[in-house]
Amino acid sequence: MGLYMSISSLIFIGILMMDFFSKERVNNIETRLYKYLLILTSIGLSLDIFTGILYNLNVDYNNFFYMIASKLVFVYIVAWLLIFAFYIKLISMPNSENRNKKLYSSFMIFAFIFIIVTPFILILPVHYIETDATIVPKGISMIIAYIVSALLIIYTIGLAIKNRKIISKRKIKPLYALVILLIVNFLAQNFFPDLFLINFLLSLVVIFMYFTIENPDVKMIKELNMAKDQAEKANRAKSEFLSNMSHEIRTPLNAIVGFSECLIESPNLDSEAKDHAKDIVDASNNLLEIVNGILDISKIEANKMEIVPKEYNPKEVFNGLCKLIIPRIGAKPIEFRSNITEDLPGILKGDVGKLKQVVLNILTNAAKYTDRGEIIFSVSCINRIDTKKCSLNIAVKDTGRGIKKEDINKLFNKFERFDEDQNTSTEGTGLGLAITKSLTEMMGGRITVSSNYGEGSTFRINIEQDLISMEAPVGSSEEIEIDYSLHSGKRILVVDDSKINLKVANNILRPYNFTIVEATSGFEALELAETGTFDLILMDIMMPKMNGVECLRRLKEIPGFDIPVVALTADAIEGQDEKYIQAGFNDYLSKPIDRYQLNRVLNKYLGGK
Ligand code: ADP
Repeated sequence: MGLYMSISSLIFIGILMMDFFSKERVNNIETRLYKYLLILTSIGLSLDIFTGILYNLNVDYNNFFYMIASKLVFVYIVAWLLIFAFYIKLISMPNSENRNKKLYSSFMIFAFIFIIVTPFILILPVHYIETDATIVPKGISMIIAYIVSALLIIYTIGLAIKNRKIISKRKIKPLYALVILLIVNFLAQNFFPDLFLINFLLSLVVIFMYFTIENPDVKMIKELNMAKDQAEKANRAKSEFLSNMSHEIRTPLNAIVGFSECLIESPNLDSEAKDHAKDIVDASNNLLEIVNGILDISKIEANKMEIVPKEYNPKEVFNGLCKLIIPRIGAKPIEFRSNITEDLPGILKGDVGKLKQVVLNILTNAAKYTDRGEIIFSVSCINRIDTKKCSLNIAVKDTGRGIKKEDINKLFNKFERFDEDQNTSTEGTGLGLAITKSLTEMMGGRITVSSNYGEGSTFRINIEQDLISMEAPVGSSEEIEIDYSLHSGKRILVVDDSKINLKVANNILRPYNFTIVEATSGFEALELAETGTFDLILMDIMMPKMNGVECLRRLKEIPGFDIPVVALTADAIEGQDEKYIQAGFNDYLSKPIDRYQLNRVLNKYLGGK
């Protein structure tokens, strides 16, 4: 019976080995030890089968091969237990600096035990006692093997008990299995003294390990999950770093743009100085675009970019974009023509912020990479009233330098810029089209390009939006213009801990003839709001001791408080406006303050055109 058990175990171990070796494995010491255990078990079982066959063939048990094979079985058991003990030692060692050193010395001790014990087992005498069913080896050689094995099992169990807090419950399972099987073996041998089950039991432990902790698939998945967690952690750290950096860069930029704009408007400066100030504003805006681009791409890569659908008037949006692009063309001999269909519905629903961003980017590129000729911006649409969908077709055609055929495929890759010799004079990072493509696809749209090198290019965006109404909303205005006289006398409270930011805000707000009151902390703002009356509060978010959100919460606790509060922050990250509105702010302005947005906010809360 023992022989059949060993044969079936060997077949099973063989199948496991085929599976184990055919799969990609995690390359760590545990897996390598398990590999040795598998190989060793198959050798041990083969030896066992060999002695079994010799016995069945009635070979004289004093035969040299029989003796050597049966002694080798005991060498195998000692080696198996040594590897198993080393395995338990390995999993009970915490991750420390000198872990490898400690492991190495344990390995040397185990190897030493093996080298000392093996010759004793092989050289010392053994004799056999024949029973009805089998022959049992006896003698000093066997006694040594038994004693070493028993000591190793006791050592392993002791090690596991001592380090039970370090070893994970899952990994200790094979040891439980070994102990239980040894008890079973002990009991079984009491009833059937002829049964030599040890080899069979050791292979059961190996099989058990395969199905619990050493399965290559499970290990690989665990390893991949760990790598994924680590990558996600690193990515979070990167996004956080980028958003902090963007905040840090925006704050001084706010001052640079703000003061330069004041210089441009100042009546006391000559035109050369004003030109320099204009250049400073242009350069700062470029820097701002780069900061925004890096922030966008890192958000896209971290899968943190969200689609935020809102209702909008498409005519207003596309006409607004035309107005924005004309100053970008500047004095170049380019005719800009827009061809926006009259069929555009009055109200569409989609992520209008991202739509503007992608269209503005291809318009800006056309303006950047065209020196003369024309840029045609056309928008057409197919309205499907039954499904309430509107398919927008947006095209920007230019007579610029065009793109070489071989470059077209790389066009939407990050940091890819072409014609470096010509490009050095044109600002850019090569991020724009990568962001444009990702955003367009996130919105369910498609961007394509056709170009003739030296003649011009056409970028087309096709995107579907929800059709809310064919009628334009009443009272919508395309212009955001400000009537400065309208606001004279209105009282505005500006809250910012940075003196320089207060000065910038003061300068920007000066033409509107407001009465501006400054607060340098949340506490001061609370005091002022309680005693004075204000028409609007502009509130910085990041302030020490009491931040803007907390200050707003306390302001709202003042009985009868109904002053609109607008968040004013350098934290210009996608979706932040929603966050501030959820926090109870009426609106949101990002730094550097964009005059267009400022006018929008002032008109909305102070009443304008
Ligand atoms: P950037 O403009 O910041 O360099 P983009 O990703 O927007 O980055 O564009 C990548 C490259 O594609 C540009 O550097 C330019 O070489 C080329 N390109 C983009 N748009 C046009 C265009 N309309 N005409 C010619 N080349 C273009």
